[in-house]
Amino acid sequence: MQLDQATQEQLRQWETELADEYQRIVNQKLNLDLTRGKPSPEQLSLSDALDGILKGDYKAADGTDTRNYGGLDGLPEAKQLGANLMGVDPEDVLVGGNSSLTLMFQVMLTAHQFGLTGADSAWKNEGNVKFLCPVPGYDRHHTVCEQLGIDMIAVPMTDAGPDMDKVEALVKDDPRIKGMWCVPKYSNPTGVVYSDETVERIAALGKIAGPNFRVFWDNAYAVHDLVDNPPELACVMKACAQHGTEDSVIQFASTSKITHAGAGVAFVNASPANLKGFKQFLGTCTIGPDKVNQIRHSRFLPNRDALMKHMQGHAELLKPRFAAVLDALNEAFAESDLGNWQEPQGGYFVSFDTRPGCAQDTVRLAAEAGVKLTPAGATFPYGQDPEDRNIRIAPSVPSVEEVKGAMKVFVVCVKLASVRKQLAS
Ligand code: PMP
Repeated sequence: MQLDQATQEQLRQWETELADEYQRIVNQKLNLDLTRGKPSPEQLSLSDALDGILKGDYKAADGTDTRNYGGLDGLPEAKQLGANLMGVDPEDVLVGGNSSLTLMFQVMLTAHQFGLTGADSAWKNEGNVKFLCPVPGYDRHHTVCEQLGIDMIAVPMTDAGPDMDKVEALVKDDPRIKGMWCVPKYSNPTGVVYSDETVERIAALGKIAGPNFRVFWDNAYAVHDLVDNPPELACVMKACAQHGTEDSVIQFASTSKITHAGAGVAFVNASPANLKGFKQFLGTCTIGPDKVNQIRHSRFLPNRDALMKHMQGHAELLKPRFAAVLDALNEAFAESDLGNWQEPQGGYFVSFDTRPGCAQDTVRLAAEAGVKLTPAGATFPYGQDPEDRNIRIAPSVPSVEEVKGAMKVFVVCVKLASVRKQLAS
């Protein structure tokens, strides 16, 4: 199907055929969901051995009784787990509770309100501050900025990460830009892995940015590969060390999509100065994290090999679901001008761009036919996709058969929305 070359008559005929096909789907009263990126029950079951793993032995290697209060920055063996996950030094890791999003919010709150390196460094001292958001991006990052009253500036994603020419120009020009959100590996939602050059240029931003600039490096999918020879992400902290910009990047990760999503362990990796500032804040919120869960995780995933082996189990479950999405898109749209997408090599999403002005209609049609998709626009700051194109597909939870069924509906909805838009233009 090529809409740009189609005559009005052809478009009208397609519209009639697609509307019939759509009505047949509506009559089936489906109830399918491709919305949030969370693990399926089968994936969660891969970690059920966590339950009971301690067999009454609550002592950490250094003798800490994990049942008690204390240990604000986490157990040494849990730091090692975070280090294995992010490829960094365990001394530079703080281990929190179950959610890296909580840590991201708390670090941003600290930077904004209290200052990560003393009260003089608080962003609020500079009035309205801004953050760069590569788009499409992760909606919950945007919500954090919105909650704290931080203005968001969208910068486009490329196949190699954020458009660094634009990022550098913006950062040089405006000292009130205080940082940038990044999901450097298998980015949510595009699946892009930042290139070595992008990582290098991001590490160097601290040299051209205004004061107290912090990149939030959300490495949520660091080990979530779907292919045998996965791409490697360069270590941003090593690059920062070379540029002398160690304070300008703060890395986050968690076991949310490794073990039990609601009962995992989250990590911050940052310079000693940033960790000191954050711990000062954290110590006012808590006497210490859940160290029992930390030690359960350390025993379950004692080294990098165990971690990577465990991740293969996830990949086996996820691969056929991603294949179902990509096969459906290739079959329906490879020879068309109806949309673009990328084939991710890991992560949780497939990002699909419709023709301009068709995403909202596609999502609405799918919802009315019983297939829930993430709201169009959700991947942009303030929920506004200026071109109304991007749709995030999250296939991890439904069964393979359900993904196939949902994609049949998706394809019809994209076609119908696109043909109607073309007819109206
Ligand atoms: N960051 C990204 C990029 C995510 O996609 C998600 C979950 N969808 C999170 C963070 C949430 O992580 P956590 O469960 O550790 O809060």
